[in-house]
Amino acid sequence: MSETSEKFIDLVQPAVTNVSPYQPGKPIDQLKREYKVSYVSKMASNENPLGSSLKVATALVNFANQMSRYPDADGHNLRAKLAEFLKIDMSEVTLGNGSNELLELVARVFAGPGDEIIYSQYGFAVYPISAQIVGATAVEVPAVNYGHDLQAMLAAITPKTKIIYVANPNNPTGTLFRRDEWEAFISQVPENVIVVLDEAYLEYAENACRDGSYPNGAEYFHDYPNLLVSRTFSKAYGLASLRIGYMLGCEEILQYISRLRQPFSVNAYAQVAAMTALTDPQFVSKSLRINDQGMMQIRAAVEAKGLKVIPSYANFLTIEFGENALEIYDKLLHEGVIVRPLANYGMADFLRVSIGNNHENSHFMGALNKVL
Ligand SMILES: *Cc1c(COP(=O)(O)O)cnc(C)c1O
Repeated sequence: MSETSEKFIDLVQPAVTNVSPYQPGKPIDQLKREYKVSYVSKMASNENPLGSSLKVATALVNFANQMSRYPDADGHNLRAKLAEFLKIDMSEVTLGNGSNELLELVARVFAGPGDEIIYSQYGFAVYPISAQIVGATAVEVPAVNYGHDLQAMLAAITPKTKIIYVANPNNPTGTLFRRDEWEAFISQVPENVIVVLDEAYLEYAENACRDGSYPNGAEYFHDYPNLLVSRTFSKAYGLASLRIGYMLGCEEILQYISRLRQPFSVNAYAQVAAMTALTDPQFVSKSLRINDQGMMQIRAAVEAKGLKVIPSYANFLTIEFGENALEIYDKLLHEGVIVRPLANYGMADFLRVSIGNNHENSHFMGALNKVL
């Protein structure tokens, strides 16, 4: 961007000039082009290293002759399936083009210039971006141990506060808050402040918290109508490319969100894929097992090198490399391993690695050995 001329900058809406765009992980093809490496392990975007369910692939092939049709704008069948799966009413779930679309639409529904949106230091980048897009003020609350300080977030509420975004577990840190902490928080948030609980890594967290201390958002939104819970098929279900997520909440709020959503933002293939994915719980269990093994393997290898990690409840591990982090990132790229630098999160000393399959994990650990 910096090299393009800025002929139109004065015409651009003030909110747009303030937006710092989301920085995605480096795509595999780009690394091959730029670094001339042929074998690449992408461990930068928390994608599912098992791919996706074979049942889903079959369903999509069988649906291949439907491309000329517009999708169901109401997402009826998938919403019905999700309602059955979660034992809720269909009116309490809405779909999005990835959960990202829904996270952003909440900001468009509830906030504008002069309003405040609260999120945590090291919180997911999409939250401050959502605030910027609508011209609201993003209020960052300092983290504790790289995780949400929910009591400090409560204390940051002012009459201008419209939305609080929290992620559990958080990305990029993998930190988690438990049931007791969550209940002390949500019960004290005023009813006129919307809380968005982002559960993109729900499946991994429930698996990691075997004592039942993970506060599943679906159990809370009936008691707290100002609570919205967002989830995705991009991670444990392995459907990142199709862009499909959903949000749970009270019918009234979901209807306001639906007013802003493009009528066909969720394509028919995403809807069919998600419905089918829900019929293959074995794929998810296998993904969680693979993740457990990879997490132990990578964490042990990294700690054996004397490096510190942030204990993670998701499908990635954030590692402290110190001031050489960016150099190590670049050296790993030369070895064909893509991880995620975190300087844009104010964590310049850290790199985040997504847990891969056996091959990818070995590739990463071998490359790390070489590089360090
Ligand atoms: C990956 C991720 C999402 C999911 O994004 P989609 O748009 O559903 O692919 C949402 N929130 C967090 C914190 C994430 O890491």
